[in-house]
Amino acid sequence: MSSPDPTPPSVPGPQVPIESLNGIGPTRAKHFHAIGINTLANLLDYFPRTYQYESAEKTIADLLTDQIQTTRGEVVAVDYLGVRPRARFEATLDDGTDKLALVFFNGSYLRNKINPGMILRVQGLVKTFRNLPQMANPKWHLIDAESERIAESRFRPIYPATAKLSSDTIQRVVDEHLSAALPAIQEWFPQIVLDQRGLLPRREAYRAIHQPANEREAQQARRRIVYDELMLMQLGLGVSKRLRDGRLTAPVLRADKLLDERIRKRFPFPLTDAQQGSIWEILKDLRSSHPMNRLLQGDVGSGKTVVALYAMLVAVANKMQAALLAPTEVLAEQHFLTISNFLKDSGVRIGLYTSRTKREGRGAGLKDLADGKIHIAIGTQALLQKDISFANLGLVVVDEQHKLGVMQRATLKSKGFSPHYLVMTATPIPRTLALSYFADFDLSTIDHLPPGRLPIKTKWLRSQQAIQAYDYIREQVGLGRQAYIVLPQIEDDGISDNKSVKTEFDRLSKGPLSGLRLAALHGQMSTEEKQSTMLAFRDRQTDVLIATTVIEVGIDVPNASVILIDNADRFGLSQLHQLRGRVGRGKDLSSCLLISDPPSDVAEQRLRAMTQTTDGFEIAEMDLQLRGPGEFFGTRQHGLPEFKMADVTQELEMLGQAREDALAMLAEDPRLIMPEHRELRKALGEQFGETLPLAQVG
Ligand code: ADP
Ligand code: MG
Repeated sequence: MSSPDPTPPSVPGPQVPIESLNGIGPTRAKHFHAIGINTLANLLDYFPRTYQYESAEKTIADLLTDQIQTTRGEVVAVDYLGVRPRARFEATLDDGTDKLALVFFNGSYLRNKINPGMILRVQGLVKTFRNLPQMANPKWHLIDAESERIAESRFRPIYPATAKLSSDTIQRVVDEHLSAALPAIQEWFPQIVLDQRGLLPRREAYRAIHQPANEREAQQARRRIVYDELMLMQLGLGVSKRLRDGRLTAPVLRADKLLDERIRKRFPFPLTDAQQGSIWEILKDLRSSHPMNRLLQGDVGSGKTVVALYAMLVAVANKMQAALLAPTEVLAEQHFLTISNFLKDSGVRIGLYTSRTKREGRGAGLKDLADGKIHIAIGTQALLQKDISFANLGLVVVDEQHKLGVMQRATLKSKGFSPHYLVMTATPIPRTLALSYFADFDLSTIDHLPPGRLPIKTKWLRSQQAIQAYDYIREQVGLGRQAYIVLPQIEDDGISDNKSVKTEFDRLSKGPLSGLRLAALHGQMSTEEKQSTMLAFRDRQTDVLIATTVIEVGIDVPNASVILIDNADRFGLSQLHQLRGRVGRGKDLSSCLLISDPPSDVAEQRLRAMTQTTDGFEIAEMDLQLRGPGEFFGTRQHGLPEFKMADVTQELEMLGQAREDALAMLAEDPRLIMPEHRELRKALGEQFGETLPLAQVG
């Protein structure tokens, strides 16, 4: 068990509540609580957003013309001039010595930000206009009346502020308590690590992040704090992996040669080497009583579903149930169709569980699930909710990047299951990021596509060239092929000028595509309607499917050779790549046509990237660069800390270092019980809380 952990009785302890600090009354304390600052430690962790050089303040009367000057005053008048000659926001400052005019060109956003009665500090070039000193587009920020004048030039932090709590106030409180609080900040890492990585000592970093002498110090401080964040996460993930591996017992699932042959017979094609390799890795995991925790990644169309199905059939053969979770109901339905097709005339029973099947009174399936009569359950994450019971759940497969949250694991455990766990992702995750976000996962990669796939030609057209696209679709349909047309929304919303499935369906059937057999597909249709529409398309009863992104994943019609994506700038890069993966599945050369007049540089870069590469990894890297990881993953990662400082897209190198260091540390001291790791262990406990019951590791 853990050793007692006395905090040195230095004053003030980091856990001192903010309201007991000098200068913080109940009202101000409330404002601090509102931004998550409850203790002195929280305050130290509230980092500046940026820094600013500030020159000494002068009174308005003393301002020098044609020089950059700093001053302050009360806002006594504001005005917004919407039109002539250039839209501008004006304010007048008064400090008792004189008045200063401020002009902000295109400053309409300031209309509800700067109001009379406020006190502003401003910095800018002073001119004289109609006998009054004036600053155009000055740097400004709100200060409170108590804020002292700046006597000398200085480099100062700017904290994320709120309407109730200015950066100045925060800075004042930090300044007052920093020196007293610093001694409580203990070093986490051995000196050798700091030397090797060129990092400031922790205490020094905390001082410098709040009170840097200059830009360089601020940067060094930032580096250290970023490293700490990344390292803590890597350690947390590493420890939690050990913890899970050590404590849970999953069912042992075996496959012999006979079973292997039986499963393979279900597929109308031989598995690729890459699929074989992944299956081999999965089988090794399933044979063990440690729960598998594996990420299966592979580009669109690389054949992940088949690999997952193989694993599910192994579970079923071992008299266990398997669950397949999709991110949306539509995708769950599509998996249901695909898998039912592979398992036609077999004894395996498959159940689909969505809110729709529930509504449509097919809830009887729930009893079969609880009785073990259903072998493979397909649904959304709701499938793991409390009111749904399994007889003997042995494997959970999750499609598309959603991690099984801590809560869901706990729910499963409370039902007596600790299943094996496989996550599929079609957005190839750049390796460094995979290592950080999925550090507690083992990784299998399907790195090549099934044979015979031809590269997809991608062309970007402006909207006035759209007719070329429709002509091409006609030509392809004439050759017996089929096409998809994808639009960003189902109906016109009257707000944006996005095209919609319903309007385009009407327009195209009367105009550019008249005479062809068109069908519409979107999420408002019932399961049956969608199924029959998709089946009709698959059976070549329709030529062109006009759809929303419901077709993004799962639709599989090798005869389709064109996908036209209209308003293409409305889609993310990875999404475009996914959509493109709907074609190129047959023997024929396929095309992806993007129609867009891109509204922004980023949109243009996305479209350009699409025309330049079909490599999913390259696309993913670019997407990450363009968007950042939060959006990239679509969902917040459960159980992972939020970074205050680190930006993993920019700090890949440091992320790699932190991972290396974390692994080395855990190799030497798996439970972090060595005396020199005491502080770190404590920090981990605080950071991960109940997610990571370190006490149970020790
Ligand atoms: P993913 O889920 O990785 O995007 P799928 O599992 O949907 O890919 O497979 C894409 C298509 O390739 C499907 O039509 C599937 O039946 C087919 N497929 C899968 N594995 C093979 C293979 N080894 N040989 C030929 N076709 C395959
Ligand atoms: Mg798939």
